[in-house]
Amino acid sequence: MIRITELRLPLEYPADFLPIAIAERLGITTAELLDFTVFKRGYDARKRDGIVLVYTIDATVRDDAAILAKFPVDPHVKIAPDTTYRFVAHLQEAPDLRPVIVGFGPCGLMAGLVLAQMGFRPIILERGKKVRERTKDTWALWRKNQLDPESNVQFGEGGAGTFSDGKLYSQIKDPKHYGRKVLNEFVKAGAPEEILYVSKPHIGTFRLVKMVENMRAQIEALGGEIRFQQQVTNVLIEDGHIRGLTLATGQQLRTDHVILALGHSARDTFKMLHERGVFMEQKPFSIGFRIEHPQALIDQARFGKHAGNPLLGAADYKLVHHAKNGRDVYSFCMCPGGQVVAATSEVGRVVTNGMSQYSRAERNANAGIVVGITPSDYPGNPLAGMEFQRQWESRAYELGGGDYSAPGQLVGDFIKGIASTQLGSVEPSYQPGVHLTDLATSLPTYAIEAIREALPAFERQIKGFSMYDAVLTGVETRTSSPLRMTRGEDLQSLNVKGLFPAGEGAGYAGGILSAGVDGIRVAEALATQMMEAQHDR
Ligand code: FAD
Repeated sequence: MIRITELRLPLEYPADFLPIAIAERLGITTAELLDFTVFKRGYDARKRDGIVLVYTIDATVRDDAAILAKFPVDPHVKIAPDTTYRFVAHLQEAPDLRPVIVGFGPCGLMAGLVLAQMGFRPIILERGKKVRERTKDTWALWRKNQLDPESNVQFGEGGAGTFSDGKLYSQIKDPKHYGRKVLNEFVKAGAPEEILYVSKPHIGTFRLVKMVENMRAQIEALGGEIRFQQQVTNVLIEDGHIRGLTLATGQQLRTDHVILALGHSARDTFKMLHERGVFMEQKPFSIGFRIEHPQALIDQARFGKHAGNPLLGAADYKLVHHAKNGRDVYSFCMCPGGQVVAATSEVGRVVTNGMSQYSRAERNANAGIVVGITPSDYPGNPLAGMEFQRQWESRAYELGGGDYSAPGQLVGDFIKGIASTQLGSVEPSYQPGVHLTDLATSLPTYAIEAIREALPAFERQIKGFSMYDAVLTGVETRTSSPLRMTRGEDLQSLNVKGLFPAGEGAGYAGGILSAGVDGIRVAEALATQMMEAQHDR
């Protein structure tokens, strides 16, 4: 099969004519093109009046070699890579001591699925509830100001990304095409097929819920077990090897192999692991606000006359500004046509994030506008970044009025440095509510200064970005894990054998897809290690 990349066609080019364009590109007749699939479809909207669709095509022709001979130095006509996933092990009989996965977010889910598919019958422990019950608890915060610290946006079946935009792309290097395996499994579990070929796929929150339930059923059918409301509170380490786990119920679980897929918000578990001596170190992350604009403004700025074209969908953006004080300000986790959500998991703290439905049809666009920070901003032990996050989340709670409302300010007032007292044309979407104030003391001064400088600079890229009435809500602190549980080449903890820190919480992923990919990697490393240990006995 031949892969053609960068096949650029006008937005208006009819999809029915695609075979003609492919055949022309390969210098063959349409009859000689036996079949083709669209591997990816993206767009280039840098020129608003000349938006082009950019295809990656896998074409089946009679003689690959003859075609390739015509394009000896063309980097965009090559043999299609083999993306088939191959298991590294297959057990006929489940091991006596089953591997345990802590956490059932995308990382734990993919690790659990792959281990189950290889016959390892993993046990998965998740502190939160099943996704439907969890949904009710999450809405209790959004609608009734009631937080359940064990069942919320961060904790429960499906992990942190369940109430999200469900964006499924990532910048990670993926030479073994694990990302494809993740997407294929998601489609099998009910995700829309288009996630396999659009360049910036997303699922939206409702579909994610169903998909997660289907994947749970698949793991169980393969002999895996998922135990909900089972928080791991201690680890048993003997002679530098993990030997078991203790649960909040007091139950002890014997195991020699544990994947820690905790996510970035398991602060009590981070503290426990630090106290037990599991190696961890500080890591940079970012802090800032959510910004909301009318989606129509973003569509117009990015797509001009093509705004509303179904092939383009609701427009997104990606912005970066290097501030005079040396800080980088950038847009993060942009959610077109979505809403800002209350994402705290701790009592007396406020955290913002964003989500959307598949249709991305809500009135507002939202994105994090965040500033990069490094351990020199929060010196101390590996947990210092986590305490730093807490400090600003508590401050946001206070500024928001102490009932989980988010502190908010109009962009125009923020730039001028005056408190907001009245909303303008943009109605913020954060529930349970937004308390207008002055955000100047909601983050460190260097972050406020950098964001104040960045917003007008972003106006140069997106007309209307610094509109007076756009709304900032704070604070966005959980952009990634504040620490890394460093692993060796065998993907085990540097100082505890049998322990595989993984996913976002361990500092090895940032997003649903990369967490899923990391889950596959650690599942393979664990399986290989277990097979070797069996062989040595
Ligand atoms: P998590 O998904 O955080 O899962 C960790 C799980 O471990 C949790 O379910 C938790 O309950 C459990 N756990 C923690 N401690 C314990 C313990 N002691 N015992 C037992 N269980 C425990 N990413 C994207 O790519 N696209 C998006 O559109 C997107 N939108 C987002 C929107 C929101 C509102 C949020 C909060 C995040 C979003 N993200 C998005 C980020 C994405 O969700 C995370 O990167 C991803 O979920 C990380 O996966 P993970 O499996 O490593 O950790």
